[in-house]
Amino acid sequence: MLVRRPEEVEDQAMTMPGAQGVTMKLMVGRDDGVPNFAMRLFTVQPGGQTPKHAHNYEHEVMIVEGQAQVFDATIDSERPANAGEVLYIPANQLHQFRNTSKAPLRFMCMVPTSYDCSAPESDTSTPEFAPTPGS
Ligand SMILES: [Zn+2]
Repeated sequence: MLVRRPEEVEDQAMTMPGAQGVTMKLMVGRDDGVPNFAMRLFTVQPGGQTPKHAHNYEHEVMIVEGQAQVFDATIDSERPANAGEVLYIPANQLHQFRNTSKAPLRFMCMVPTSYDCSAPESDTSTPEFAPTPGS
């Protein structure tokens, strides 16, 4: 068994175009020898947002702290999501997390390990995440 705390994991700035005030901690991923699911802890600062984007894999999200405004493609609009709530975002569905509150937003996001944003296996394009200076 592996046990890990958020404070033990490096925070990486999300560098994807459209991201603002977003950092990610890869809590468990393929570098740990995990075969299927990666777990990531995101922090969005007040006024920050993830890019509005879609991809060919799903997200399973749990809001851990704070409040998000989440773009929901099924209603073509935003809906609030609060700490304790779980969201399932199917593959290829547009989504975005915005923090319009005055407190940090934290959420867990599960993805297949092949998309866990650790050292890319073969993709040499611009990484979506970069180490945060000083962390
Ligand atoms: Zn996504």
